Amino acid sequence: MVKEIICTICPIGCHITVKGEGDNIESIEGYTCNLGLEHAKAEFSHPVRILTTTVKLESETSPLLAVRSNKPVPKQLIMDCMEEIKKVKVTPPVKRYDVIIKNICGCGADIVATGSIE
Ligand code: SF4
Repeated sequence: MVKEIICTICPIGCHITVKGEGDNIESIEGYTCNLGLEHAKAEFSHPVRILTTTVKLESETSPLLAVRSNKPVPKQLIMDCMEEIKKVKVTPPVKRYDVIIKNICGCGADIVATGSIE
């Protein structure tokens, strides 16, 4: 398998090509520094993302509450996490960083509020 990765560690945005299968990496080309090399290895074998979205809010002033994961979530669990998040309806008051869903999908990340609602 060949994966083209645009490094997001710095604004240069090097285009990195990784060849391999699963955890077995055969070659990595296109990176400029070791940060990019490590990023490409992780992105090839175990890609993760900070999940940012909204949950329903029981409020007359605002229907949605912005939330995010407090740690990166494995990319293959993003859709499962979204299904869990869709089921939640939050009742104010909510403070910034309040945990909305603990250990979502068992991945170790919590979904937390990114703002406060009275
Ligand atoms: S490989 Fe290094 S220089 Fe290139 S985008 Fe990534 S961090 Fe920046």
